[in-house]
Amino acid sequence: MKIKKRKIILPIIISIIAIIIIIGVYITEEHRIAVLCYHNIATTEEKQNFLDEQDWTITVENFEEQLKYLQKNNYKTLTMQEFYKWKQGEINLPYKSVLITFDDGFLSNYQYAFPLLKKYNMNATVFIVGSFIDNSTDNEWQGNIKTYMSNEILEKVKKEYPNIEIYSHSYNLHYQGAINRNTEELKNDIETFNSKFENIDIYCYPFGQYNYNMKQALKEENYKMAFKYGPDRKDYKKASRKDDDFEIPRLNVSHGMSVNKFAIRLMMY
Ligand SMILES: [Zn+2]
Repeated sequence: MKIKKRKIILPIIISIIAIIIIIGVYITEEHRIAVLCYHNIATTEEKQNFLDEQDWTITVENFEEQLKYLQKNNYKTLTMQEFYKWKQGEINLPYKSVLITFDDGFLSNYQYAFPLLKKYNMNATVFIVGSFIDNSTDNEWQGNIKTYMSNEILEKVKKEYPNIEIYSHSYNLHYQGAINRNTEELKNDIETFNSKFENIDIYCYPFGQYNYNMKQALKEENYKMAFKYGPDRKDYKKASRKDDDFEIPRLNVSHGMSVNKFAIRLMMY
C-alpha cells in the first residue's frame, strides 16, 4: 500500500515542480513586451487624400478600437522609464504590458492620438526628428497629414499631456543612407538634438537603419537604448530582455490593423 502511494505521489510532485519551473521561466526569462510602432493618424477622409501616406497612416477609428482593446483586456501602457527598468531587469511588469510609440512627430499625433490616449488614460512615447520640429510653423491642424508639430505645439504637449514622452529620432538624419555618414557627423547630429531638446538618452533609428558606427556614437553620447523599425517580417516580434539594448524590435502597426489581427499580434511571441 505504501509503495503504491509513493508511486502516485512522486509523479505528481515532479509534475508540480516542472510546472513551477515552466511558469518561472516564462515569467522571469521569457517575458516579452510588444513595442507598438505608429506614425501618422487621420480620419478616413483625410487618409484618402494622401495616397502616398497609406502605409504610414492609421485611421482615428481604428486607433481608438485598438486602445479600447488594450483597455478591455487590462493592458498596462508603459512609460519609457518603466520599459527601461524592465529591460535592465530592475523591475518586473504585468504580463500584459505594452509600449506605445509614434515616429517622426506628426502634427496629427497632437490632433488625434494624444486626446484619445488621455481619454483612455494611457502612456505613449513620440520619437521626433528635431529639424522637422524646428522648421515647422504649423500650429493649427488643417487636415494636412504631412505636417509636423512645431516647438510651440511641443510646449503645449508638455503642459496638456503628461502621459506623452518625447525622445529622439535624430536631429537631421531622417533620410535614406544617412547612416553612412562618418562617426563624427553622427555624433554631431546627436549633440545638436541634445542641445535643443530634453530626454536625451533614448533613440529611435530613422528608417530603422543602424550600424556599428551609429550604435557606438549613441553609446559615446550616453544614450541607453535604441529602437529599430520592422516592416521586415523577422522584426515582427516582441522585445525581450535578451535583446541588445541598441537593437530593440518593434511591432509595426503604422498602416492600421483590424482589432482581431492586433489581438493575435499581441499574443504572438
Ligand atoms: Zn521616421
